[in-house]
Amino acid sequence: MRYYLSLIIALLVTSVYSEEKTTLYDFRYWTAPDHTRIVIDTEEDTLFSISKNNDYIVISVDDAEVLSDTFSNIFFEDERIQKIRIKRDRETIKLIFHINKDYRVKHFTLTPNTKYKHHRLVVDIIDLEAKSSVKATKPVKDQTLSNRKIILVDAGHGGEDSGAIGKNKSQEKNVNLAIAKKLVANINKNPELKAILTRSGDYYIPLTKRITIAQKEKATMFISIHADSVENSSAKGASIYTLSEKGNNSKLAKQLEQSQNLVDQFGGVETVIDNDQFLKNILTDFSRKDRDIQSQQLAKEILKELEKIGPVHKIEPQKANFVVLKSPTIPSVLVETAFISNPTQEKRLTNSKQQQKIANSIYQGIIDYYLNLEKDL
Ligand SMILES: [Zn+2]
Repeated sequence: MRYYLSLIIALLVTSVYSEEKTTLYDFRYWTAPDHTRIVIDTEEDTLFSISKNNDYIVISVDDAEVLSDTFSNIFFEDERIQKIRIKRDRETIKLIFHINKDYRVKHFTLTPNTKYKHHRLVVDIIDLEAKSSVKATKPVKDQTLSNRKIILVDAGHGGEDSGAIGKNKSQEKNVNLAIAKKLVANINKNPELKAILTRSGDYYIPLTKRITIAQKEKATMFISIHADSVENSSAKGASIYTLSEKGNNSKLAKQLEQSQNLVDQFGGVETVIDNDQFLKNILTDFSRKDRDIQSQQLAKEILKELEKIGPVHKIEPQKANFVVLKSPTIPSVLVETAFISNPTQEKRLTNSKQQQKIANSIYQGIIDYYLNLEKDL
């Protein structure tokens, strides 16, 4: 009898034990100028601990298994990570990251959403050397650029947030960045202008941070580059949005508002802040009316140029309540360059020559806007 009982207990323990095994589904890395982000797709109750030493970080996960399909994704080339090792200590998996910079580590977890079905563990390796180098170059920059107009060019999405995905699997974030980079190159050829990118690679920047970058850089214009997506794959053409705090009642704009303003969920922010509350705090006495009129002017000029190179979806600039357009003091527009959900347009969006054409048109729109502004003075 006693033998029988202990057998049952042994069986129970084994079955409970295997049920508790947690799966690490996948691993992704995003390299930003000031940090490297490690993302691990996990189960809900994954037990993990993170310890930091001088030159390495250990992420330990209890009773874990790694899928053979994604095992190789653990190993990633990154300027800050010298070496990645995996060690099994009984049922605990230890991921060891050797870091070759002075760094700080921060982590948080994210719950599933429409884009990510698994829970995510996010570990940010914050590069302390990168920060100090930015500070060192600042004063020189301020002096030399005092007379130039500074334009912030924002490539929508990035990193964990791919944006819309085309029928042929092109990701909006990559198209946006390619066009944004071409636009920046155009602008910077003009000695009176200076363009700065919110992001220069494949990593995520929270929406409100995109606005604070504009403020920090003393930008006088904000242009966010995106590509549209709808169910109907024949929808085509460019459209431009300016801010309306009230929002827009059209179905497409409503959908867009939702998808634009929720991207922080996908991209991953440590604490979800109330964006509207945040923005109230940075609003100054500046006349919002003036900003809105200027944004509208800028939108019209850009749309006029885009019309010359391809179809436009809406002939007039549209209004929507996009968080990223809420810079309190500067004209801000969001350009939906084309529909990535339309295979013909997707092809155009991924073609370097076509991207250049789009960038040229936006650039010409900016110039026309400034010329008009001078006329009015
Ligand atoms: Zn977008």
